[in-house]
Amino acid sequence: MTEHYQHRARKRFGQNFLHDAGVIDRILRSIHAKSSDRLLEIGPGQGALTQGLLNSGGQLDVVELDKDLIPILNQQFAGMPNFNLHQGDALKFDFTSLNAAPNSLRVVGNLPYNISTPLIFHLLNNAGIIRDMHFMLQKEVVERLAAGPGGGDWGRLSIMVQYHCRVEHLFNVGPGAFNPPPKVDSAIVRLVPHAVLPHPAKDHKLLERVVREAFNQRRKTLRNTLKALLSNAEIEAAGVDGSLRPEQLDLAAFVRLADQLAIQPTPAAE
Ligand code: SAM
Repeated sequence: MTEHYQHRARKRFGQNFLHDAGVIDRILRSIHAKSSDRLLEIGPGQGALTQGLLNSGGQLDVVELDKDLIPILNQQFAGMPNFNLHQGDALKFDFTSLNAAPNSLRVVGNLPYNISTPLIFHLLNNAGIIRDMHFMLQKEVVERLAAGPGGGDWGRLSIMVQYHCRVEHLFNVGPGAFNPPPKVDSAIVRLVPHAVLPHPAKDHKLLERVVREAFNQRRKTLRNTLKALLSNAEIEAAGVDGSLRPEQLDLAAFVRLADQLAIQPTPAAE
């Protein structure tokens, strides 16, 4: 397919095109799209996943940044009534413009590694319209997303994504499945926004702030890393042992710290 359209993969757009039919099929089976689904693909590239998504009969919007890929995608798919192409940057895309019903949008993407984290956060700002997300990401990123407390993978990304979503590391994909092959291993992850947040914070921004501050120096104790935000007494009042290191705390404990900050704002917190 690559030779046929003579598109040269561009590094700056993170282009590693899937060509392994077995891997493509496995991804599509994990998504299991239906004709009633509202689908959004980020970075369709040359359409490796797009065809299968369209075959489900579901309504598919795609967002592709590379202008040179637009005619290639149109040539293949413009005749299909359930296909809708947007040229632009997914990081700036207004997902509400899709007018998707609450909890309906199914997002799919073999994402460029450089935009994967900001894109996930951009999507989580619209978590209310999203039913689920299936992404191909760098394997290490998936390990961090799916991590639990106590290890080196547990950090800001795990906590802020798990605040909003259930995370499932589905399977790994080697470099040989792509053209050109990336230098890293990849993995497929499923993110499902919680219908009801299991640990809602009084103020989401304060949670972000506490987590960022705590993991700025992950080897230090909480009492130390959080001293600009919370006194040791306030940390203890949240039911947290200030002598622990941030990676030993679960999501619920971080939410209690953020809520403590919300009820007892210290001058330093402003
Ligand atoms: N889905 C195709 C596949 O699996 O073969 C292509 C995957 S390739 C890793 C990533 C795709 O995302 C490329 O087509 C690239 O041009 C596109 N892309 C890169 N940055 C983007 C952005 N900010 N917004 C939308 N698409 C982007």
